[in-house]
Amino acid sequence: MAVVKRTSENVLLRTALANFYGAAEEMGLPDGLTDILAHSERKTCVSVPVEMDDGSIRVFEGFRVLHSSALGPGKGGVRFHQDVCMDECEALAFMMTWKCSLAGIPYGGGKGGVNCDSLKLSAKEKERIARTFAARIEPVVGAMTDVPAPDLGTDPQTMVWFTDTISKMRGRLEPAIFTGKPVSFWGARGRGAATGLGVATCAKALLDVVGAQVKGGKVTVQGFGNVGSFTAKFLHEFGMKVVAISDITGTYYCPDGLDIPKALAHAANDPKRLLTGFEKVQPGVKKMECADIFDIECEVMLPCAMEGAINAKNADKIKAKFIVEGANGPTTPEADEILAKKGVLVIPDFLANSAGVIGSYYEWCQDLSGDFWTEERYNERLVHQMTENFMRVWNYSKEHNVRMRRAAFLAAIHRVAEAVKMRGLFL
Ligand code: GLU
Repeated sequence: MAVVKRTSENVLLRTALANFYGAAEEMGLPDGLTDILAHSERKTCVSVPVEMDDGSIRVFEGFRVLHSSALGPGKGGVRFHQDVCMDECEALAFMMTWKCSLAGIPYGGGKGGVNCDSLKLSAKEKERIARTFAARIEPVVGAMTDVPAPDLGTDPQTMVWFTDTISKMRGRLEPAIFTGKPVSFWGARGRGAATGLGVATCAKALLDVVGAQVKGGKVTVQGFGNVGSFTAKFLHEFGMKVVAISDITGTYYCPDGLDIPKALAHAANDPKRLLTGFEKVQPGVKKMECADIFDIECEVMLPCAMEGAINAKNADKIKAKFIVEGANGPTTPEADEILAKKGVLVIPDFLANSAGVIGSYYEWCQDLSGDFWTEERYNERLVHQMTENFMRVWNYSKEHNVRMRRAAFLAAIHRVAEAVKMRGLFL
């Protein structure tokens, strides 16, 4: 009997499933295996009742999805964002399975979140949400079961609240259940900047392999949160010319190149870590609408904000030669087709932004062994691993004449499928 294909109203889940089924079919994955991998092992939904600062009670919804534990414990972030829902978490958990597999680390895929608007919460409200959520998902997380990390709207402080809550509930310190913790509390030197370093390393490896100029090469970065800001920082350090950056306040453009250290310092001083007013800080910077970042001429455009940022409405306007996806799911399938027709080469998210979770793996190893590394050791290993992973997918894509996204899917699915076959079904 043929596989009954799953789909979803949620764009992210629909896209993730469609990409998976396409690759599974191309590699001749048996129907049973395809069906197993198209479903999540566990979907947890909890209510998160919290007292707000004004004394009112609000009940948020919290989720944790474990898509696959074939390669190891689930791994993936927790986001605090108003649009979080079960389907979105499942799509992101699904992509984490492929990300960890492709990266060559011993994890399955997980993801979670709470449907709260992190920008509208006070620190105390955020702490109460974090602790209640952690307490309610306590039965399904653990260093060898499912290991959450930061994502949109959460940060190292959130990870400390998670770790502290679960450690107190269990009566022992559990430092390896959450990664992305601060260096002062079982975190790893380098983890904060890891995703951005990896995205920038991918962009550099790409320009190197196509024989384009790295020094002075023009790039644009959409989003200036953890991923975007560190990506811009490292691109700048590699000698590339970052001509535009953006966040929810607008696009900041300077054809001669932005002063990225100044932009980083400016955002760090803003209470919401936004770029508001940066056009007044560096002479020659023009402030434009958020969407204008897609029209700017450049070698590489790096979407590092939200999913669906590059879609059927704006894909045609893109003037970049290459796209390196820092965010998860920033390009819709329709946009992918438009870009392919225009000859724009896309480096997929689960390759380009995998340094975050690779860095989390280094942190987990350090927490389990109690042996903490220097930042140099961490960064050196990360850059080496990212460049190697990029080249592996690049060579496969050239040899088999398939796009980078398809090549990455094929390699990632292969490793998970082998693990499922070896381990068998537990009856
Ligand atoms: N949230 C990041 C991601 O989407 C990091 C996940 C992790 O470190 O577990 O890859």
